[in-house]
Amino acid sequence: MSRIVQKYGGSSVASAEKIKHVAGRIAARRRAGDDVVAVVSAMGDTTDDLIELAQQITSHPVAREMDVLLSTGEIVSSTLLSMALNEEGLDAISLTGAQAGIHTDEVYGRARIAEIETGRMERELAAGRVVIVAGFQGISENFDVTTLGRGGSDTTAVALAAALHADACEIYTDVPGIFTADPRVVPQARPLKDIGYEEMLELATTGARVMHARAVEVGAIYGVDILVASTFDASAPGTLIHKETTMEQGNKVRGIAHQDRIAKVTVRGVPDQPGIAARIFEPLAAANVSVDTIVQNASVENLTDLTFTVAPGDLEGALDVVNKMLPVIGGSSVVSAPDLGTVSVVGTGMASAPGYAARMFKTLFDNKINIEMISTSDIRITCVVDADKVGDAVRALHAAFELDRG
Ligand code: ASP
Ligand code: MG
Repeated sequence: MSRIVQKYGGSSVASAEKIKHVAGRIAARRRAGDDVVAVVSAMGDTTDDLIELAQQITSHPVAREMDVLLSTGEIVSSTLLSMALNEEGLDAISLTGAQAGIHTDEVYGRARIAEIETGRMERELAAGRVVIVAGFQGISENFDVTTLGRGGSDTTAVALAAALHADACEIYTDVPGIFTADPRVVPQARPLKDIGYEEMLELATTGARVMHARAVEVGAIYGVDILVASTFDASAPGTLIHKETTMEQGNKVRGIAHQDRIAKVTVRGVPDQPGIAARIFEPLAAANVSVDTIVQNASVENLTDLTFTVAPGDLEGALDVVNKMLPVIGGSSVVSAPDLGTVSVVGTGMASAPGYAARMFKTLFDNKINIEMISTSDIRITCVVDADKVGDAVRALHAAFELDRG
């Protein structure tokens, strides 16, 4: 008998019909003898709808109230799934994040899990119940409800798998695994059999939307193997995210991620002195603007340009901060470009073999795609390009690195 933590995403529980289907899958697993803890997301677009509703009331919702509001989406789906399981003749119980013992810090909207008290879940499992946990939420030291950030139910699931010492952690979604690229952009994209934590983390942070990056991080820290598979196609094997990746001789790029839209901010004519970058990026961090790629040019006559990218929703906030700092740091002007995107090539094999960057740049050049910015890690190369060119770039690179061949 094994202990399994499963997670079902929003599209998997989007209707009563789908919730019954999920209940059927869990029931089969339970009847086969496994102990099951199932984490659920909110039904379909519920979270977006709740955000939209709050915006009709105020453009500055109180963070504490916002988190309580958003947490209700997952509570709805968890109770319905528990009812569906009871209807199947199984003993099941739903728990909110707080009832499941998920303690977090008090950073509303993107709280981090501090500790999980598993007592209640252990008691329910010992009583033979299927435990359904509302994803994406926890409780602070002051007993206030917190949420973990968009897509956070994945993180709930992986953290529970670690805390409960589960034998398996399975993330069920509407696609049959992690693909070599987004199949909506590249028809030839194929699901990967497995992928390493590091590679998955790079893909998730550069645009692959299947997995919450923090879930992969937690998985890597606690050594939780994570299977990403389809809720609806039980015949597809899915993708295993784990420590070791199988050798793929001769092809060291494992996947391509992209972001359709990002914005770029350039601060011009900045004096090349110690402390300037800190004076720009500290207030950006304080204003909760999360900055991606940063490039500082080599200085000419002691003046330099500093460029960084942000999510489009953060552009206004970033410009506010930077325009305020401009007189303080003595820069000459601020310019921004909203219509950019990124394409990233990822693979651990790239760390030890030269030539990947050259091949990427040549492929983009052959396709007449201009590179605006470049950033790299050991196992990733990211190019910022025109938003219009992102699709062409992903397709060209998928072909150039022979990802369709397996
Ligand atoms: N319902 C939340 C969201 O849509 C959390 C999740 O789905 O994982 O972001
Ligand atoms: Mg969701």
